[in-house]
Amino acid sequence: MKASQFLVSTLREAPADAEVVSHQLMMRAGLIKKLGAGIYSYMPMGLRVIRKVEAIVRDEMDRAGAVELTMPVVQPAELWQETGRFEKMGPELLRIQDRHGRDFVVQPTSEEVITDIARQELRSYRQLPKNFYQIQTKFRDERRPRFGLMRGREFTMKDAYSFDRDQAAAKASYQVMAAAYRRIFDRFGLTYRAVAADSGAIGGDLSEEFQVIAATGEDAIVYCPDSEYAANMEKAEARAPQGPRAAAAETLTRVPTPGKSTCADVAQLLGVPLTTTVKSLVLATDVTDAQGAIVGSRIWLLLLRGDHDMNEVKVGKVPGLDNGFRFATVAEIVDHFGTRPGYLGPIGLKKPVTVVADREVALMADWICGANEEDFHLSGVNWGRDLPEPALVADLRNVLEGDPSPDGKGRLAIERGIEVGHVFYLGTKYSQAMNATFLAEDGKPALFEMGCYGIGITRLPAAAIEQNHDERGIIWPDAIAPFTVVVCPIGMDRNADVKAAAEKLHDQLRDNGVDVILDDRGERPGAMFADWELIGVPHRVVISDRGLKDGQLEYQHRRDSAATKVPATEMFAFVMRALAARQTAGA
Ligand code: ATP
Ligand code: MG
Repeated sequence: MKASQFLVSTLREAPADAEVVSHQLMMRAGLIKKLGAGIYSYMPMGLRVIRKVEAIVRDEMDRAGAVELTMPVVQPAELWQETGRFEKMGPELLRIQDRHGRDFVVQPTSEEVITDIARQELRSYRQLPKNFYQIQTKFRDERRPRFGLMRGREFTMKDAYSFDRDQAAAKASYQVMAAAYRRIFDRFGLTYRAVAADSGAIGGDLSEEFQVIAATGEDAIVYCPDSEYAANMEKAEARAPQGPRAAAAETLTRVPTPGKSTCADVAQLLGVPLTTTVKSLVLATDVTDAQGAIVGSRIWLLLLRGDHDMNEVKVGKVPGLDNGFRFATVAEIVDHFGTRPGYLGPIGLKKPVTVVADREVALMADWICGANEEDFHLSGVNWGRDLPEPALVADLRNVLEGDPSPDGKGRLAIERGIEVGHVFYLGTKYSQAMNATFLAEDGKPALFEMGCYGIGITRLPAAAIEQNHDERGIIWPDAIAPFTVVVCPIGMDRNADVKAAAEKLHDQLRDNGVDVILDDRGERPGAMFADWELIGVPHRVVISDRGLKDGQLEYQHRRDSAATKVPATEMFAFVMRALAARQTAGA
C-alpha cells in the first residue's frame, strides 16, 4: 500500500471531549471520526485494525465449531415482547417505528432472534450441539456514551449463542467457548485476565469476563497473586472472618459528635481507627397487593464496617432484597429512625426495620454507630447485650486489597481492567420464554440449554491502546496493527536510488503477505516519523540517501529507543525474522 493512495490523516491536538488516552490517540491518529455522541465512522486506518480483530475472532470461532450467520440490525418488537425485554429493558434499548406504526428495536444483542431461529431449525437432539455467531452492528443508547469506541452507542460485537440438549452438554459448550476466548486474547498480544463474574439469578460459576489490564480501566478486578483466583469486584467474595466474636469490654456510651456525620469524621474526632466504626445504609422494598399496586414499604438497615463499601450485586442476593430494592427516602428514614441520615444506627428505632449485618460487622465487639439523634453517636456497642443479634448476616461489601483470598491461598490484590469479552451460561431463560424446544432422545419436547458469548470488537482496539502507548502515540501489537511495517524513504522524490530501494523492499514484503505501507507522500523526515509513531505501526524501515551510499538501511521497532543499521541486501530477511519472532512471542 502506498500512503499517497491511502488516507493518512493525523492531528496535532485531540478534541476537547476526548478524556482518555485511547480516545485521544484514535482521534489524533485518524482511526475514527465522530458523527454524533457515541457514534463514529471507522476511518480507513481504524477499519484495518477492526478487520484484523474480526479475522482473529472469526478464525478461532470457526475452529471451535461455531457457525457464522448474520441477524438483522432492525428487529420486530414481537420477538422482544415474547421475552418481555421490549418493556423491561429500559431506555438503553432503541425502539423505533416503521411507516405503519409497527414497533421495532435496533439490536443491542440478539438472544431473541437466534432463539427464534433455533426453534425453527433445530428440531432434534441429533442436530445438537450448535453454536451460532455473528459479527454485527449493535446499538445501545448508553446513558453516558464516552471514551470514543470504548463505550459507544453504535458499536460492533461478536455475539455467539450455543444450543444444547441438557445442562451437562451446555456446560461443555461453555468450556469450549471459554478456551476459544483464551486463544483469541492470546493472539491479540494483549495482557488480559479471565475473571469470574456474577451469573445473575442462574448461580453457579459459569460466567467469566475477559479483562484487558489497563490502569485506566472502568472495572476493578480482584485476583490472588499466589493462586489462580480472579473475579470481578461484583463477584469477589469477602471471606467471613474466622474465630469467635471478642467479648464486650466497653460500656455502651452516648458520645457527642457535633457536625460529624461520616464514619471517618467520627473516628478522627474520637481518635479511634475507622475499623471500629459501623455505617448504616437504609434500603427499602416496596410491598404490593395482589394487583401489583404499591401499598407500603419495608425498611432495611444494612450495617457495614466504616471503611467498607456496599456491593450492590451482593446486596441484591439477600433474601427479601432479591426482587429489587431502592434507597429509602428521607421521609422513610425519619419515620423509622427519628432522625435524618448522618447519625443513624440500629439502637433506639422508632419503627422496626430488618437489620442485615455484613459478615465482618456481625463479629465485631465494642463498635461505634449513630445514636439516632442528631450530633450523637454510640460507642461500646455490642451485639446481644445492647441490641439483638442481626436478623440476617451476609457478605455485603466490596473486597479490599489484602483481604484473604476466597480459595484460602493468599491475599487479594486489585487492578483495573477493561471488559472486552464475556462468556455466560444462560440455562433455559430464553428457550423457556420463547417456548423453544427440540425433540429429545425420549421423543418428548425439551427446552434448549443456552449460553451466550460476546466480544467487543470495536472496544478491543481502544483497550489495546490504553494498555500500549507512550508519549508519542500508539504501539500496536503486530496482530492488530493497521500496518505491520512502514517503509519511510527520505527524499524519495529527489533520489532515484532511494525510490528504487523503497519500492523494492515494499514490493517484496507485500508479496510475502506482510501488511506494509510505503510513505511516498514526500513529507519531511520529522513529520513522517511523528505520523507513524502516532499511528503506532510496530516496525519501521528508514531508507536514506546517505545510508544507501554505505549500503545500509535502518530498522527500528516502535518500542526500540534507537535504530539498528542493517545492510540493504539483508533488510527484507531481517524484517521477516523480526515479524516471525514477534509472532512466536505473541506480540
Ligand atoms: P458493560 O458492562 O461495559 O456495559 P455489558 O456487560 O453491557 O458491558 P455485554 O452485554 O456482555 O456487555 O456485551 C459483550 C461485550 O460487548 C462486552 O464485553 C464489551 O466488550 C462490548 N460492549 C458492551 N457495551 C459496549 C459499548 N457501549 N460500546 C462498545 N462495546 C461494548
Ligand atoms: Mg452495558
